Amino acid sequence: PADAREFDLIVIGAGPGGYVAALRAAQLGMTVACVELEPALGGTCLRVGCIPSKALLESSEIYHQAQHSYAARGVKFDGLTLDLPAMLKDKDGTVTALTGGIAHLFKKNKVTRVAGRGTLAGRDGERVLVQVDGKDAGTLSAGHVIVATGSAPASLPGIEIDGEFVTDSTGALSYEQVPDHLVVIGAGYIGLELGTVWKRLGAKVTVLEYLDHILPLNDQEIAKAAEKMFRKQGLDLKLGTKVIGVERRDEKGGQVLIEGGDPIECDKVLMSVGRRPYTEGLGLETVGIETDKRGFIPVDEHYTAAPGVSAIGDVIGGAMLAHKAEEEGVACVERLATGHGHIDYGVIPSIVYTSPEIAAVGKTEEELKKEGIEYRKGKFPFVANGRAKAIGNTEGQVKILADKATDRVLGVHILGPHAGDLIAECAAAMAFGATAEDIARTCHAHPTLSEAVKEAALAVDGRALHF
Ligand code: FAD
Repeated sequence: PADAREFDLIVIGAGPGGYVAALRAAQLGMTVACVELEPALGGTCLRVGCIPSKALLESSEIYHQAQHSYAARGVKFDGLTLDLPAMLKDKDGTVTALTGGIAHLFKKNKVTRVAGRGTLAGRDGERVLVQVDGKDAGTLSAGHVIVATGSAPASLPGIEIDGEFVTDSTGALSYEQVPDHLVVIGAGYIGLELGTVWKRLGAKVTVLEYLDHILPLNDQEIAKAAEKMFRKQGLDLKLGTKVIGVERRDEKGGQVLIEGGDPIECDKVLMSVGRRPYTEGLGLETVGIETDKRGFIPVDEHYTAAPGVSAIGDVIGGAMLAHKAEEEGVACVERLATGHGHIDYGVIPSIVYTSPEIAAVGKTEEELKKEGIEYRKGKFPFVANGRAKAIGNTEGQVKILADKATDRVLGVHILGPHAGDLIAECAAAMAFGATAEDIARTCHAHPTLSEAVKEAALAVDGRALHF
C-alpha cells in the first residue's frame, strides 16, 4: 500500500533536471528523496558543465581584453601576467558555492539527500536500491520515481579519452598548463566555448569538424557570420575534416590523424563530439524500459517511461540543455501532483557563450523554408547600437523572422554582446504569441543593447530608425 512507502517521490540524479524536480515536488507537498552518486549536487551543469565553463569564459575574456582592449580605453598597466592556478581556483570556488547552494535548498525544502548510486529494483518502479562504493546500502520505496541521470561525454570509435593527452570537456576545464597546441575535435558549442577559452589564454587552437559548417542546428546566416568571427579571433577551423585516429607519442603529446591529410601534431586533444545518455547500472530492465537506438529513455507526453517511472532531462534526449531539463523537472512533477504541466518546446532558447555570444529561439530560416512557411526578416547590426559602441563590442546582429501573413514572431537569432540575455525578451514575446510589431512598439530603455532587438523588429516592416 502507498502509505507503507517512505516517500511520495524518489528522484535519481541531482542535476538541473533532478534537483529542480525534487524542489518543485517538495513545494507541492510531496515527501521527496534525491539519490546522487557524486559527492556534490548540481549534476553536469554545476560541477563540470555550464557553470565552470562560464567562469573560465569570463576570466579568459578579462585576460584577453586586458591585453588587447584596455589600453585603447585609457586603462594602462605594466606586467600583466596569467596566474592559471588562481583562475582555476576561482572557477572551483564558484562551483563549490553553487553546489553547496543546492544542498542548502534541499535542507530548506526538506528534500532527503541520499548519497549513492540509485538502481531501479522491480516493476512499478516503487523501489530504488542504493549502492555506495558498489555495496548495497539499502532500499528506498516511493509512490513514484523520476530518472534524471543526465548524460556523459561521447567519443569517436577507437579513440580513448585517457584524461591526459586526449581529454573530454571535464578535463579541458582544468588543464594545469596552457597547451601549446590544442586540437579540438567537434565544432559544437562545447568545443567552440572551450576552444576559445584556451585560445584567449595563449594556446594555438585547431578545431576539426566533420561537417562543412559549424553549429549545424543554428540559423546558418548567423553561423557563417560566427565562423568568420572565430577565424578572425585566430581559431584554425578545419571544416569537412574526418578524424580517423589519435596517436600519443610521449608525455609531451602526439598527433591527430585525419582522412586525406597530414597528421596534426599537438600536445592536447579535446574530444567534444557530443554527449550520450547516462543509464549505466540504472536497472532499467527491471521495470521493462528499453532504451532507443541512441541509448535515450523513450517517454510519452507525460514523461512516463514505465508504470510508476518517469524520465526527464538529457537522458530522454531532445535539446540537451540545463534549462530544458529544469523545465521538464517542473512539468513532470506538476503533472504528477495536479494533472497539469506544460512546456512549449518551440520556445526553448539555446546559447553559445563565446565572445560575442550566439543566441537563438524558435525557427531558423532553413527550417521555415523547409516547412514552406512564408516569412519576413528584420535585421539590425550592433554597429548601429549606441550602447554596443560605448562598450566597444559592435560585432554581430539581431535577426527576427516573422510570419508574412500574421507578423507573429517565429524565430530570433542574435550574434552579439550579451545575446544570451537579450534572447529572453524574445522567448517571452514568442511564448505570448507576440508579433514583430508588438516588440517594435514596446518602449526599450536607452542606451541598451536591447534596442537592437526593437530595431530588428522595426526592420521586419522596413522601418528601422537607426540603420
Ligand atoms: P546531469 O546534469 O547530467 O545530471 C545527472 C546527475 O545524475 C549527475 O549528477 C549524475 O552523477 C547523476 N547520476 C547518474 N546516474 C545515477 C545513478 N544511477 N544514481 C545516482 N545518481 C546518478 N547547458 C546549458 O543549458 N547551458 C550551458 O551553458 C551549458 N554548458 C555546458 C558546458 C559543458 C562543458 C557541458 C559538458 C555541458 C553543458 N551544458 C550546458 C549541458 C548541461 O550541463 C546539461 O544539459 C544538463 O546538466 C542536463 O541536466 P540533467 O539533470 O538532465 O543531467
